[in-house]
Amino acid sequence: MTISGKTIITGIFGFPVEHTLSPAMHNAAFEAMELDYCYVPFLVHPDKLENAVSAIRAINLRGINITVPHKEKVMEFLDEIHEEALFIGAVNTIVNNAGKLVGFNTDGRGFMRSLGEAGISARDKDVLIVGAGGAARAVGYYLCREAHSLTIYGRTRSRAEGLAEDLRKVGDAVSVSNNFSDIERFHMIINATPLGLKHDDLLPFDTKNLSKEQIVYDLIYKNTRLLEEARAKGCLVLNGSGMLLWQGALAFELWTGELPPVEIMRRALLKAIY
Ligand code: NAP
Repeated sequence: MTISGKTIITGIFGFPVEHTLSPAMHNAAFEAMELDYCYVPFLVHPDKLENAVSAIRAINLRGINITVPHKEKVMEFLDEIHEEALFIGAVNTIVNNAGKLVGFNTDGRGFMRSLGEAGISARDKDVLIVGAGGAARAVGYYLCREAHSLTIYGRTRSRAEGLAEDLRKVGDAVSVSNNFSDIERFHMIINATPLGLKHDDLLPFDTKNLSKEQIVYDLIYKNTRLLEEARAKGCLVLNGSGMLLWQGALAFELWTGELPPVEIMRRALLKAIY
């Protein structure tokens, strides 16, 4: 990659940011498409987020991904927020249109694309989401319109109830559960908690009653103990690398207006993960 005065800059704001896999994925895509763009990680302290967002305009960055812990707070500093991001209450992608900063959330659509490419449709499925945070909200936004039913399990009942109430504004058949006694009835179970990120984490739920008819999707981008145990039960398993890939591919499209080279991005992402 050669940086010149014409190179268009994109990147990511996070705190911390050193573990991000997005630069590998986006820079590989720019290079493959021979686009004069580059993608840079920026360590942005929460106290400096407003300054950093102003800098997007000041130094003419084309687009920025937003990661933990800034996805919600950043919304205050943008000029316009896309409907989907407003619902989710979080922005993961900013587009700078000649100084006007527009916020998007590509996580939910990224998740649906990853299901689609695995040949899975949520239609006619009873789906359980374990967790009621930002990721649950992003995937729930789409699933509640497609699935036969959607159930939210939340450690904090009030948070799960709040999410279910919001989701009922866009889809039917959304309910809340506070136990896993009927786990056998779900066609698809999604882990949207961080449990499994660390190797000594507890499982988000007991896998003993899983069966080979079920799909288990862990939003964590690596193979987790949950996925290992579900696979041993014969379940179809998916990790979050597909969602991560597609949220990035959708951001790439928003910034460049070009169709993303998804297979190049996938290869770069998997190389960075493993
Ligand atoms: P979040 O907003 O902090 O929400 C986390 C949820 O998990 C909350 O509902 C929380 O419960 C629950 N939880 C946390 N620890 C728990 C525990 N010990 N037992 C039971 N529930 C617990 O986080 P998030 O942004 O939604 O992210 C969740 C996961 O999704 C993370 O692992 C993240 O890596 C993954 N993710 C993946 C992608 C991707 O592209 N693949 C994108 C976004 C997120 P309370 O409500 O009680 O706090």
